[in-house]
Amino acid sequence: MSVFDRIDTRRPRAAGTRTQRVLLVEDDHHDAGLVREMLRSGWGADVEIVHVEHLDRACEYLAENTVTCVLLDLTLPQVPGLDGLARLRIAAPEVPIVVLSAHRDEATAMRAVHAGAQDYLIKGRVDDSLVSRAVRYAVERKRSEAQLLHQALHDSLTELPNRSMFLDHVELALERSQRTGKRIAVLFLDLDRFKLINDSLGHRAGDRLLCLVATRLRGVTREVDMVARFGGDEFTILCDDVTGEDDAVIVADRVAEAIAAPFAIEGTEVFLTASAGIAIVGENAAGEITAEALIRDADAAMHRAKERGKSRHELFDEVMRTTAVRRLETENALHRALERGEFTVHYQPTVALDTGQVQGLEALIRWQHPDRGLIPPVDFVGLAEETGLIVPIGRWVLDEACGQLARWRALRREHGDRVPLTMAVNLSARQLLHEELCSEVAQALAVHDVPAQSLVLELTESLVVGEDERTVEAFSRLRDLGIRLAIDDFGTGYASLASLKHFPADVLKIDRAFVAGLGRDSVDTPIVAAVIGLAHELGLVAVAEGVETHRQVQVLRRLGCDYAQGHLFSRAVSPGEIDRIMVSGLSI
Ligand code: C2E
Ligand code: CA
Ligand code: CA
Repeated sequence: MSVFDRIDTRRPRAAGTRTQRVLLVEDDHHDAGLVREMLRSGWGADVEIVHVEHLDRACEYLAENTVTCVLLDLTLPQVPGLDGLARLRIAAPEVPIVVLSAHRDEATAMRAVHAGAQDYLIKGRVDDSLVSRAVRYAVERKRSEAQLLHQALHDSLTELPNRSMFLDHVELALERSQRTGKRIAVLFLDLDRFKLINDSLGHRAGDRLLCLVATRLRGVTREVDMVARFGGDEFTILCDDVTGEDDAVIVADRVAEAIAAPFAIEGTEVFLTASAGIAIVGENAAGEITAEALIRDADAAMHRAKERGKSRHELFDEVMRTTAVRRLETENALHRALERGEFTVHYQPTVALDTGQVQGLEALIRWQHPDRGLIPPVDFVGLAEETGLIVPIGRWVLDEACGQLARWRALRREHGDRVPLTMAVNLSARQLLHEELCSEVAQALAVHDVPAQSLVLELTESLVVGEDERTVEAFSRLRDLGIRLAIDDFGTGYASLASLKHFPADVLKIDRAFVAGLGRDSVDTPIVAAVIGLAHELGLVAVAEGVETHRQVQVLRRLGCDYAQGHLFSRAVSPGEIDRIMVSGLSI
């Protein structure tokens, strides 16, 4: 019997024909003969058996031919143990493999199955039907494995590769680029107003639209580029080997054009636009960036494009990278700041407009950063909200402020001052919806022994826009504690007047944007007058923020505003400064 028993490379590939082709890799001719006979009689005439003795030959054969299944002897003399299996799987990852083991060595056969073989047969314990059943079973099993793999790596709606496959491919492209020096580009695409369309036309139409978008994206990209559905209405495109920014911009333009043409969905024409962000890895930079970071850069550029509105695409640049890096650094530093005691609270007095007396204080957080100095809240409160860190930070501010309030109330009493002092603490949305808020507030009051009505919690107006049930509930639970609530920055958040009905507050703080124009801007004065009137009508106290001039004080007095706060009286200052103010009052 020749080594290449029945190899004829001129034969057409078996794919598409009914004939099954089994490649038998077996050095023992006697065993080979037996298997061949069993397979023939178990399967019938439509099986072609190709026998080779060497693994090298098997790999060569697989490179050129299509094979239904491989039967691999595990005891080939040239290759030890499971190495043969590993090599075959590399040579033909899509072909199912059944291993043949000696009857003493079932354990190795089991290991082969764990290492990727679809089934095993023990020599001497097989018969016709067992052999052919093993082959059929291996083919079936491989097919379902492949299907599972496909499902794991593709989006079931559009059939495009999914996020995890995209990530893998970007990783591979980066590795390749490191060797070849060729540039790669990632486009991050987000459909504009998709949610609106989805909500108004229904989810089925939304799904249909996403499929049509997927098809169009495939249509305008090269075969070598990968289009993936990254999630929701986000698509990503990987362009291998671009010459520069221009190439990537051309792709972005083609994509924009493709999406701009109307879509016919259930009898209606739907118009779409998309915002795209592009990130490119230049020569020799591939080793310095991870796949995740590259995609994140493209995502950041997409957000910039969305913000700008008019530009449909935006390139990720150095400025954006610095901002992104800075943000990440700030986030990391924020995590540590609380433990390290880097936060402080400054206090700004609120003054009664009729008497000029300090009526209360507002607690305003500051971050004493070891390298960056004193950081104002605008530079970190937003990030703290996004990351949820505002909850522990806010808890700390509340405790700190209540402690100081107790001290200053005592100090005032010592000086025979009978005016009750209040403390205002700012709350973010995240804190308001935090379950523990009420008990934490109650605890802070109890620990520092301050009456509930001397604490004011300030919530920005944007929080009370709409009548979110959870917000309304949190609001009323706080009120039940006996503390007071203020609506901050009133006039900027577009709260309807009706929403004030659902948020029974005690104080309305007029945003400093309106106060700034008092006596100067012809519109601001009537607005402030109206807000003060509204506050009084609803039984609320009005506080003007950001008062900087005597002129503003005059107008506010005339309009009947109750309290004012601003640089004219005092900036937010350290507790030591407040001690002094408590004793000797404000000098203006
Ligand atoms: P806000 O609650 O509206 O606080 C008033 C801001 O205006 C403060 O800025 C204050 O220093 C500033 N300000 C007061 N008077 C004047 C004035 O006459 N002219 C001008 N130009 N500005 C004036 P700050 O301290 O930088 O705080 C900014 C914002 O950060 C606060 O706005 C508040 O929303 C937030 N914030 C501060 N502390 C906390 C906190 O502990 N928790 C939360 N969640 N947010 C806080
Ligand atoms: Ca405030
Ligand atoms: Ca405010």
